[in-house]
Amino acid sequence: MNTADYAARFREIRDKVESQERLTLDDGIFLYDPKVPLQEVGELANLVRERMNGNVGYFNINTHLNPTNVCVYRCRFCAFRSDLRDPKGYAMNDEQILARGQEATENGCTEMHIVGGLHHQKPYEWYRHIIELLTEHYPKIHLKGWTAVEINWFEFQTKKTIEWVLKDLQAAGLGSMPGGGAEIFHPEVRDQLCEHKANTHAWLEIHRTAHEIGLRTNCTMLYGHVENAFHRIDHLLRLRELQDRTGGFQVFIPLAFHPENTKLSHIKKPSALMDLRTMAVSRLMLDNVQHIKAYWIMLGIETAQTALAYGADDIDGTVRHELIYHDAGATTPQFLTVDKIKDLISEAGREPIERDTVYRRIERDENDFTNWRSGESVDALAVS
Ligand code: SF4
Repeated sequence: MNTADYAARFREIRDKVESQERLTLDDGIFLYDPKVPLQEVGELANLVRERMNGNVGYFNINTHLNPTNVCVYRCRFCAFRSDLRDPKGYAMNDEQILARGQEATENGCTEMHIVGGLHHQKPYEWYRHIIELLTEHYPKIHLKGWTAVEINWFEFQTKKTIEWVLKDLQAAGLGSMPGGGAEIFHPEVRDQLCEHKANTHAWLEIHRTAHEIGLRTNCTMLYGHVENAFHRIDHLLRLRELQDRTGGFQVFIPLAFHPENTKLSHIKKPSALMDLRTMAVSRLMLDNVQHIKAYWIMLGIETAQTALAYGADDIDGTVRHELIYHDAGATTPQFLTVDKIKDLISEAGREPIERDTVYRRIERDENDFTNWRSGESVDALAVS
């Protein structure tokens, strides 16, 4: 293709986006071509971002809980896991888990994000008990817990159906599910990264079932390792297809690969330009997912802030106790204060709005920051 051909092809895609026509696999792959100026892809994504979410930048006040890092699997990209007898391995007790709930409450957190390893010796009941324990003592905190990989493990442990497991966890207090474990769906890549854990069919089936029983979930894609543009777009299209059927994904989070301390440490971490292009292409391809998140822990603060002009409308939360990406070499701080996160969003020219996990606006008592309530859905604020 010569320069004029590139310009014509891009115009074709721009026309489609402007008339709200759906982009195809080939369109997506073209947008990943380095010869297509990033600035133009970003501008197009920003058009969709503002059409869907106005000028708002969402954030939440949250904490993480990784109850164990001991894991039966050995995903090649994972720096967090530990063998059962490795001194690095841990499993939290009730007292430590409750201390995390107490700290979250004292800091005004509305959400606890709970994921971890698949411990060789912990039965399903231990994982369920964590949800029940936190619900009993801290009923106000939304528990977003267990990825599809964990749910798939619970199915194996209990010999029950996905629906049974999800309903049982819901009864214990589970509020929604995170989007982890999706990695890259295409088998050419997935088999190289994590051939033993939940496969693509299982991941999608678990999310489909969750949506069916009324659990909202998030979705992700881990990029910047052994995959190429085709694999990324294929991944986005599989998510888009499921979303057409269920409408249950509330946010998509592109996750930049961090190679340090992993079996893929020879690979270079994706550049900021790749991060921004992936953010923009994701916004353009996933026309049916309301929110796109720039997860600052993985992207770094500056790139996450810039991403608010490249399709993202959410920057994640204040985050406390993040271990998974810090173990893989993330140099971002352990948490951000509320003022800092609001400043980052305002500096990017967006209006900061605090949301809860299921995207309702949070209202806080002016005199007591820890006293809060969830208001109306923020999507009512969105520009259509
Ligand atoms: S990514 Fe998850 S399933 Fe894979 S090794 Fe790490 S903790 Fe285990």
